Amino acid sequence: MEGWLAEAHLPSLLAALAYRTGELGVLEGRFGPKTGFKALRTEPPGGVDPEVRADAVAAASDLIRRLGELPEPVHSDERLRAIMEFLTGLLEADYLPLLKHELALPEDAGHPGWTLSELAPGRKFTAVVIGAGMSGLAAAHRLRQAGVPVTVFERRPDLGGVWHDNDYPGARLDTSNFNYSYSFSQHGEWEDQFSPRDAVLDYLRGLAEDFGLREAIRFDETVTEGRYDEKSGLWSLVVMNSATGARTVVDANVLISAVGQLNEPYYPEIPGLGSFSGPVWHTARWRHDVPIDGLRLGVIGTGASAFQVIPPLAKAAAHLSVFQRTPAWVLPTPGYNLPLDPGFRHLLSTTPYYYRFYRFTQFWRNVEGLREFAVVDPAWEHPVSVSEANEAVRAVLEESLRTAFADRPDLVEKLLPAYPPYAKRSVRDDGTWAEALQRDNVDVITDSIERVTPDGIVVAGETIALDAIVLGTGFRASEFLASLSLTGLDGQTLEEYWGGDARAKYGSTIPGFPNLFCLYGPNTNVNTNGSVVLFVELALEYAMSCVGELLRRDAKAMVLREEVFEEFYERLDEAAKGLAVGHSTVNSWYRNRFGRVSQNWPLSTMEFWRGTRGPGNDYDYL
Ligand code: NAP
Repeated sequence: MEGWLAEAHLPSLLAALAYRTGELGVLEGRFGPKTGFKALRTEPPGGVDPEVRADAVAAASDLIRRLGELPEPVHSDERLRAIMEFLTGLLEADYLPLLKHELALPEDAGHPGWTLSELAPGRKFTAVVIGAGMSGLAAAHRLRQAGVPVTVFERRPDLGGVWHDNDYPGARLDTSNFNYSYSFSQHGEWEDQFSPRDAVLDYLRGLAEDFGLREAIRFDETVTEGRYDEKSGLWSLVVMNSATGARTVVDANVLISAVGQLNEPYYPEIPGLGSFSGPVWHTARWRHDVPIDGLRLGVIGTGASAFQVIPPLAKAAAHLSVFQRTPAWVLPTPGYNLPLDPGFRHLLSTTPYYYRFYRFTQFWRNVEGLREFAVVDPAWEHPVSVSEANEAVRAVLEESLRTAFADRPDLVEKLLPAYPPYAKRSVRDDGTWAEALQRDNVDVITDSIERVTPDGIVVAGETIALDAIVLGTGFRASEFLASLSLTGLDGQTLEEYWGGDARAKYGSTIPGFPNLFCLYGPNTNVNTNGSVVLFVELALEYAMSCVGELLRRDAKAMVLREEVFEEFYERLDEAAKGLAVGHSTVNSWYRNRFGRVSQNWPLSTMEFWRGTRGPGNDYDYL
């Protein structure tokens, strides 16, 4: 037992034991987690200071030994509040419901809480979900909980969305899998903190099995267009079968788009790219038929995908040329590529509630915990940071970069970002990336790419001879729903309404498009706070509460009022300017071609939570 406890995250473990036993005396302040950026990144082993570690282990050990004697917990908000205070250091009363939601204690708080037959007995009412990735599976689950007949159309042959597509070497999560999993489907069986791609797919497959979702999914079926019919109040959808090309029309009262944001590869417009004589492929369309061994390989891009794929490619290729346009800030993440310690895993799978509280501590760090580091201080004058707090983060990251490349000052010059942290997505490294870039067979090229010739890539007038090129150039992230054509009220298409500048209330609803709800839509990405999965869950709960209201009113449809929408976006756009992401002009998929922050949620997580609790008075009912 003591051996296993040496690998535990003690604050989370003590919280779990306190919840299980009611013995709140173990929640001593000295055993609580550390806060602040530096502490978050370099947490002491076990999550507590070394001088109190033995006491914390003894307290945990004592409770674990007595578990069998102590009665099962009777949930009380008071007990949970005390634990929250211990874990977060603060507790504003209105946080408690969000925290309970994340713990799913005492129950799944995102359950719709209504059924079609209760609200509209006998009404014929159906939903269509487009996409069977992370968001679409959750949508199907919630609709089924509400007894709404649902069909999910998925253009791929299997579920998983981006996790189906991205099978490049080294693909894994860069958000802890505890947070990249649903509150209503959490577990303690993870082998890693940042799961490899196959483990994420297994999670999604397991979720589909557990909730019986596969029977609702029609694979190899692409929704190509949809038109809202004002008379019937139905969405009429054209669905194409990938194998036969046959088209059918399907009607639905509610249309949920779960098509994703990061799934349409971006192929850069580099002169001559098409003339290259060897193979060229995108990270999200991996060419498993091309053996890398012995090749002179070029990788364009140094975003999250390139960061993961470059280390294994560097080992296999004869020579690797990394073409970097903008360096990423690197978050030092010890153990990023390693499995969790066996003792940690043992306790996680055997100690009641431990995985829930561990997931919660991961969540908390990234909720409002880091936001302050991204907020712009207008009085702060510094070429590369936006506030004193942001500068503190920058300094920590610069120091860690200098340490990782201590023997290669030439690389430090190339890899040190000249923009504030949080202006662009950061990446993670446990030394694997640093080791790869310092190999003898790897070059980092920062001169601009001039053109591609049949033989290679030309920079600074010189051709770098290559056998193959990998495009780690990302996705057409801001072109939301570009894969299909949707026509709403008065024959207006979504493409016309947005004009390339996609916006939706809570990423979900759009004036002129009744009964259309998007998940992982505009402005629902995380910058520093929360997890995308949390935002998907909350937007879905918003959609479900809207649908519930529609049924309660026995209305055909509901449509967001234009003035509400404009007011909402005035606030959002103003808030974005006050964050590093809106302030900086660095290249980033967080902003669209108009320079507007179209991907990130710029307010607090609490504001997203509050706003997504229901439709309020924001809709007209038709
Ligand atoms: P990305 O972050 O958009 O990176 C694209 C890279 O290609 C950037 O370095 C970009 O340079 C470069 N690039 C684009 N066009 C170029 C051109 N014409 N010439 C030279 N360089 C060019 O894309 P990504 O790496 O695929 O990641 C996208 C997002 O997907 C991530 O931020 C993350 O949210 C998600 N993702 C998650 C995971 C995970 O969880 N494991 C893994 C992969 C991706 P600039 O920076 O100068 O634009």
